[in-house]
Amino acid sequence: MQQFLIRDIYQKQLVNQKLCVNGWVKTRRDSKGGFSFLEVNDGSCLKNLQIIAENSLGNYHDDILNLFPGSSVKVEGTIVRSLGGNQEIELKAESVNVYGFSDVTTYPLQKQRISFEKLREIAHLRARTNTFGAITRVRNALSFATHRFFQERNFYYLNTPIITTSDCEGAGQLFRVTTLDMQNLPMNKPGNINSQSDFFGEEASLTVSGQLEAETYACALGRVYTFGPTFRAENSNTSRHLAEFWMVEPEMAFADLMQDITLAEDYLKFLINHLLNQCKEDLEFFNLHIENTLLEQLNNIVNCDFVILTYTDAIKILSKHKKFSFPVNWGMDLQSEHEQFLTEIEFKKPVVLTDYPKIIKPFYMRVNDDGKTVAAMDVLLPKIGEIIGGSQREERLDILQNRLKELGQNENNYWWYLDLRRFGTVPHSGFGLGFERLIKLCTGMGNIRDTIPFPRVPGNAKF
Ligand code: ATP
Ligand code: MN
Repeated sequence: MQQFLIRDIYQKQLVNQKLCVNGWVKTRRDSKGGFSFLEVNDGSCLKNLQIIAENSLGNYHDDILNLFPGSSVKVEGTIVRSLGGNQEIELKAESVNVYGFSDVTTYPLQKQRISFEKLREIAHLRARTNTFGAITRVRNALSFATHRFFQERNFYYLNTPIITTSDCEGAGQLFRVTTLDMQNLPMNKPGNINSQSDFFGEEASLTVSGQLEAETYACALGRVYTFGPTFRAENSNTSRHLAEFWMVEPEMAFADLMQDITLAEDYLKFLINHLLNQCKEDLEFFNLHIENTLLEQLNNIVNCDFVILTYTDAIKILSKHKKFSFPVNWGMDLQSEHEQFLTEIEFKKPVVLTDYPKIIKPFYMRVNDDGKTVAAMDVLLPKIGEIIGGSQREERLDILQNRLKELGQNENNYWWYLDLRRFGTVPHSGFGLGFERLIKLCTGMGNIRDTIPFPRVPGNAKF
């Protein structure tokens, strides 16, 4: 008998069709009329399929009456219009085969609600809940939409290294990668490890960004994007930071900061429109159970023009309001309270801040004519804060060398990066989007730890 996904059964309304369904039992109810209802989910959609199993089935007493939440079954039967209740169709079973029973006393996912904190401790099972099923489908749809967006615009998908020997941008604390014996480290002199005998012959770490490597390919092929894991050992226990997260980093040759901003705005709108079309049921679930302004927020993003504002103008606006706990002055890094004020109170929509002071931005951002600011842009969203950070890259060799000197960096460490400016340099721009922050935005989940299957955070890398 042909196997079907529950999603297809609903979409195609396969009434009167004989078919087979596989899945996990969510609940069982026994009716006095000599039959049982099973709610079965197979992950293909939020909705369960209701199964009617009559006591005339050969294994009714032995098997079906022992089906508890979490057990797995294969059901063959016919789809019929349901008579009562809220199900429009159901599956009348001709056979129910059990793949595996569950344990009613120890299976953690029973009827009662479990907090998201508790679910993180059973991350291997939380995928079976409605919420994590929906998050997973949304995450998948956003990955697909990412590839579609860039492929349609002639960007090449590029895989940049995960292990690297350049602390690209000083973007955060690094995770060291080593095969040295921790009990017996080779030392040059006390306190100074000899990395020449390490696996790569020098200090290596997990990447904090694929940008510098992506630039080399953009400066050869025009347009590329990376989409891969990124690692930062920052000890920030916040609801917006992970130690391992995924980043999407497009890089474009022959593009200035305005083109970069346009790409970022188009990309975000494309992603949300894709979701609104493809994941309606899941988004409605989040809107009902997780964040009741979610659909309004998402529609607001696709229907508005983002505000584009210089850092300096933002500081002017913020200085008029004296109630911040971090006092506002030009040159400071904006705190969440300032970002929130701009996106949620002043403009009530996404704000792209540009032209930050160069002292708070990395060396590779293009220095503006004023000598004090750089061609940077951050996309800030209501409730989420920063989701994208990008810039036009410094393409002028002498200025880039000066910047490295100012920062006390040895330019020899960046010889290959500087070569791009020595040989046929071109204006180019790019940005990085934090994929989990995107999922946070699109699901309304409050904590970023619930947007990735197995979160890595300070003190926890379980599973
Ligand atoms: P923040 O100031 O929020 O810590 P950042 O300025 O250090 O972020 P960038 O180096 O600009 O971040 O990285 C680009 C994007 O990657 C950010 O806009 C954000 O969406 C995402 N991102 C950065 N750090 C993290 C993290 N620890 N966990 C999840 N996403 C992150
Ligand atoms: Mn940033």
